[in-house]
Amino acid sequence: MANTLEELNGRRHFDYIVIGCGGIGSGAVYWLSKRAGPNVLGLERFQLGHENGGSQDVSRIIRLTYSKECYTKLTPYTFTAWREVEDESGMQLVYKSGGLNLADKGVTDYILEPYEEAMITNNIPYEKWDNQQLMEHYPQFTVGPEVVALYQKDAGIVDAALGNSLHIQLAQGRGAKVLDNCPVSRVARALNGLIEVNTPHGTFTCKRVIVAAGAWINHVIGSIGCHVPVYVTEENVTYFGSPHVKEFTKDKFPIFIYHQEQNDIYALPVHGISGTKIGIDAAGPVVTGDTRSWKPDPVRMERLREFLQKTCPKFLGPVLKAKTCLYTMTPDRDFLVDSCSKAGFPDVFVCCGAGHAYKFASLLGQILSELAIDGRTQHDISAFSWDREGLTDPYFKPVFTMGSEKKSKL
Ligand SMILES: Cc1cc2nc3c(=O)[nH]c(=O)nc-3n(C[C@H](O)[C@H](O)[C@H](O)COP(=O)(O)OP(=O)(O)OC[C@H]3O[C@@H](n4cnc5c(N)ncnc54)[C@H](O)[C@@H]3O)c2cc1C
Repeated sequence: MANTLEELNGRRHFDYIVIGCGGIGSGAVYWLSKRAGPNVLGLERFQLGHENGGSQDVSRIIRLTYSKECYTKLTPYTFTAWREVEDESGMQLVYKSGGLNLADKGVTDYILEPYEEAMITNNIPYEKWDNQQLMEHYPQFTVGPEVVALYQKDAGIVDAALGNSLHIQLAQGRGAKVLDNCPVSRVARALNGLIEVNTPHGTFTCKRVIVAAGAWINHVIGSIGCHVPVYVTEENVTYFGSPHVKEFTKDKFPIFIYHQEQNDIYALPVHGISGTKIGIDAAGPVVTGDTRSWKPDPVRMERLREFLQKTCPKFLGPVLKAKTCLYTMTPDRDFLVDSCSKAGFPDVFVCCGAGHAYKFASLLGQILSELAIDGRTQHDISAFSWDREGLTDPYFKPVFTMGSEKKSKL
C-alpha cells in the first residue's frame, strides 16, 4: 500500500527518487532502501498493483538459460536477488519447476545451439532429449520425432505480483516512502544543481533519479532531452482451467518455450488460483501505454488452442482468464541500463527491460541502486548501454516481430 502525502510531513527532498514502481522500479526502491532507508521516494503514476504496465501478473518465467552471454552471466544473480527478498519477507517468490526449450529438427533447432553453448560456457547443467525422452519425463506432451528438447532443472516461475508488493512493503519498513496515483510530468535541473521532479502533488528534489517507467519511458526522459527507440506491443496471455490440473502443478510440469518459425510460444504451470498459462512472444500490435485496446486477440488465442491440441492437449480447458499486457522493447531486444550523461544528466539512470525482464526485476533494482549510490555496479552491464547499434542506428531493423515475420532469439 502506498503512503499518503500527509505521511511525507511536508518533506520535499529525498536523496533518491524512483519514477515508476512496476517490477524494476519497486526493485530499485527496495534495494535503495537497504542503504538509504528513509532517503528514498518512489513515485508511481497509477495505483500500486495496477495492471496497466508490464509487471503485474501471478507468474513470470525465471531461468538460467539465455542464448546470449550478457544475460547468462547475470541470471544466477536473479535467483540470489529474489532469495534476499524471500529471506527478508519469509515468503516464497521463486518456484523451480524445471524448464524446457523445445524446437523442431531442421526447422528451429538451430535456435537451441546458442543456448547449449551458453550453458556449456557457464557450467549450467542441462539435458538434451528426443521426443520419447521428453514424453517419458513429461507424459503431458504428445509430440512426434521432429521435436528436440533442452531441459534445465533450475528454471521455474517467480510470483510477480507478490514480488512487486514485497519490494515496496519491505522498503517502507526501512522508512522509504512511495506515492501512487502520482504521475511525474517533468524532470529538470534545479538551480542549486539538484534534480527537480514535477508531479501533480508538487515538486520534489533529489540527488539521483532512477527512471523505470516501462511503456512511458520517453514521456519521462523526454523532458531532459533523451529518447530511447522502443516498441510497445500489446501481448496476450491466456489461462485455462484444465480439468487435469493435477498434472500441471509446479512439481509436475515445467515452464517451456517452444521455438517457432515465427513467434515463440511459452507456457507456465499453474500457480495460485490461476490456471495453466500460455502466450505467444512479441506477437502483438504496436500500441502506446495510453491507446491500447485491452482486448485479447481471438486469432492468437485460437492459434494457441490448435497448438495445444496437438502438443499438450490436457493443458487445455475453459478459458479462466485472458488478458493483455505490455511489452516495451528496444529494437535489439536488449535491456537499457545506463545514465543519461549524454544529455547532461549523469545523475539520472534509466532502465528498459525489453519485454523479458521480470525475472531480472529485483537484480536490476539492485544494479540501479548501485549505479545511483556508488556510480558503478558490481555486474557487467556493458551490453546494455546507450552506445550500441540497436539504439543509435535509426535504421536498425527490430530483431523481433510484432505479429508475423521473424522470431525473437532470446
Ligand atoms: C504477457 C507478458 C508476459 C511476460 N512474461 C515474462 C516472463 O515470463 N519472464 C520475464 O522475465 N519477463 C516477462 N515479461 C516481461 C516483464 O514482465 C517486463 O519486462 C517487466 O515486468 C517490465 O517491468 P518494468 O518495471 O520495466 O515495467 P512496468 O511494470 O510497466 O512498470 C513501469 C511503471 O512505471 C509507471 N510509470 C510510467 N510513467 C510514469 C510516470 N510519469 N510517473 C510515475 N510512474 C510512471 C507505470 O505506471 C508502471 O507502474 C512478460 C511481459 C508480458 C506483458
